[in-house]
Amino acid sequence: MPIYEYTCNYCDEPFEVQATLAEKAKGLDVWCPKCANQDVQQVFGSVLMRRGSNKARTGGGCDPATGCCGPRR
Ligand SMILES: [Zn+2]
Repeated sequence: MPIYEYTCNYCDEPFEVQATLAEKAKGLDVWCPKCANQDVQQVFGSVLMRRGSNKARTGGGCDPATGCCGPRR
């Protein structure tokens, strides 16, 4: 059974939903496991994004997300 990745638009909680293609085609009732909001969106191809990855900032240097080094010239 394929697994679909979603994130909650309300609390940004990432979660996975298992469903057959037939179930998916019919329209899934998907809701956030954390806040039960149904305002969720499917994530495509974001396997590399993991929770807790902001630890990487402790290594020093620039965090591209904050742009502390400014744009490259
Ligand atoms: Zn949520």
